[in-house]
Amino acid sequence: MYTGRFAPSPSGPLHMGSLIAAAASWLDARAAGGRWLVRIEDLDRPRCMPGAADAMLRTLDRLGLHWDGEVLCQSRRLEHYRAALDKLARQTYWCGCTRREIADSSLGLASDGAHIYPGTCRHGTARKRALRVRTTAEPISFVDRVQGRCQQVLEQDIGDFVLYRADGLFAYQLAVVVDDAAQGITDVVRGADLLDSTPRQIYLQQLLGLPTPRYLHVPVALDTAGGKLSKQTAAAPIETDPCALRRALAFLGQSEAGTLDQALRGWDPQLILRRRAMALAP
Ligand code: GLU
Repeated sequence: MYTGRFAPSPSGPLHMGSLIAAAASWLDARAAGGRWLVRIEDLDRPRCMPGAADAMLRTLDRLGLHWDGEVLCQSRRLEHYRAALDKLARQTYWCGCTRREIADSSLGLASDGAHIYPGTCRHGTARKRALRVRTTAEPISFVDRVQGRCQQVLEQDIGDFVLYRADGLFAYQLAVVVDDAAQGITDVVRGADLLDSTPRQIYLQQLLGLPTPRYLHVPVALDTAGGKLSKQTAAAPIETDPCALRRALAFLGQSEAGTLDQALRGWDPQLILRRRAMALAP
């Protein structure tokens, strides 16, 4: 059965960017007669804002984006991430590099702006700062339902990436893979800022023997000045925008729809523009 999910990080109130992802994922799931789950990605404690998760859930509910079952919180699932790390023991190694050392030895910048890690500690180090997974030169490709064929060679485009930090933080890439599988997610619908994370997630699914869901990445909403709308740039919370849902639907190409019901009846993901980012109409 189709099972979709919305997986916000509770670092602030729901904003237009996250509403667009939530609406797309809800519509795609409900149009398929499927289930729609919500997962709170609250692993990075310093970035979580107290009360934000509850506020997001209230906003989803008020807009009619009702979810099925219990809301899963990543902060309560640490033993599952630990178990996945144990399974990956033969493919991981401790890295002792500081940020500065990584910047100095970097093979360049990955498309998400992070340094490509050259594998400095692959053959051992006495320092334990982060646990990395060994990547390979085997291309990883997938066909995104909106963005089309995407491919990365992880070793060259990303480098061995972090799964766990010695201060106790499990990485998003690991947690998302473990949780998507645990929740039986068949379809991931989310913002295209995560398109470049998808090959890493597919790689981990393969190493852990987990199924790969279908992916659909919607464009990231930019403000009219071309900047990313996000909690960090203090995009207005949608609570103060009575047209928020209609603007989100129009952004998704469903401009005939004024309400969620109409959007559901006419839902056509082919109308979503094949762009990584685009301006959100005021
Ligand atoms: N928690 C991530 C975010 O808020 C989304 C993760 C995902 O959908 O895979 O950006």
